[in-house]
Amino acid sequence: MSTVLEPRSKSMPPHVAPTAPAGVRSDWSRAEVDALFALPFMDLVFRAASVHRAHCDPNQVQVSTLLSIKTGACPEDCAYCPQSARYDTGLKAEKLMPLAEVVAKAKLAQASGATRFCMGAAWRAPKDKEIAQVAAMVREVKSLGLETCCTLGMLSKPQADALKDAGLDYYNHNLDTGASHYGDIITTRTYQDRLDTLAAVREAGMKVCCGGIVGMGETTAQRAELLHTLATMAVHPESVPVNELVAVPGTPLADAAKLDPFDFVRTIAVARILMPRAHVRLSAGRATMDDALQALCFLAGANSIFYGEKLLTTGNPDTAADQALFARLGIRAEGVFEERVETCAGHDDHPQAEPGHAAR
Ligand code: SF4
Repeated sequence: MSTVLEPRSKSMPPHVAPTAPAGVRSDWSRAEVDALFALPFMDLVFRAASVHRAHCDPNQVQVSTLLSIKTGACPEDCAYCPQSARYDTGLKAEKLMPLAEVVAKAKLAQASGATRFCMGAAWRAPKDKEIAQVAAMVREVKSLGLETCCTLGMLSKPQADALKDAGLDYYNHNLDTGASHYGDIITTRTYQDRLDTLAAVREAGMKVCCGGIVGMGETTAQRAELLHTLATMAVHPESVPVNELVAVPGTPLADAAKLDPFDFVRTIAVARILMPRAHVRLSAGRATMDDALQALCFLAGANSIFYGEKLLTTGNPDTAADQALFARLGIRAEGVFEERVETCAGHDDHPQAEPGHAAR
């Protein structure tokens, strides 16, 4: 098996923010983002595919596995989320998973080709004792040779430092939607709370995984607003999960209108153009996408997926189906069979797993 290149920022001392790579812009105007969404579909996808080829190997897709280490009974009111204690979705709440079980799942994920292992817990904000428990998991998973990612809710700076010290590579905390739509989706924490957590993660020296969910009744302008916020961060998130709402019965969004698949592809394409070196992740919602639509997403610049049967609490295509699709498309899993291409190394990733949590 070939070597996975070390992420470039790994040697960076903590508390020193990385700078944007040359040729990557953080000065996008909102009008520019709106104009991208207004392009004819073919023009948009062609442009996104061209940007993708200029910055990444278009036939390489990064593969992560997501494990829910603590499920349900969350006090937050995210309207899409079956893990909220406020909605009757039939989800069985589970306490924090024992360390040995997490390690066993990580080994299985590694054996099936995952290079990154994401651990998600349905908390509003973890207590310090819980951070210590998760830090122990991070150390063990990391010692297997896997990249590590967590999505645990809001973090204080000392908590982010503790996770960084344990070896955590990525922290997922999604913005979910555009700021003007946010109050329709979540009332128990603010947009600024989310931005503050993202700042604490960056300052601690971890890589940021941050994206959102489309199909929650937002307008195209509000999708543009979300991507504009992400793309004007001084340093883009290394991973940008783009989730399609999984409408779960019992949640307030159970009857949300189904998204036009081309609008999903447009969102992927615009994210790719705006954040050319990020790993744009095809996340929640993939279970209901046919192979042709997934291929179109890859063409439009998606270059990361979650692998495995469950995406926190919603379904995900099974591993064998994913492997077969990769083979049919000639796609290689990044870091499994060969080295990452330099242009994408160190630039990466949470789906509707909590779509606010993995999808969080
Ligand atoms: S998305 Fe996260 S914070 Fe929101 S209800 Fe679900 S588990 Fe809780």
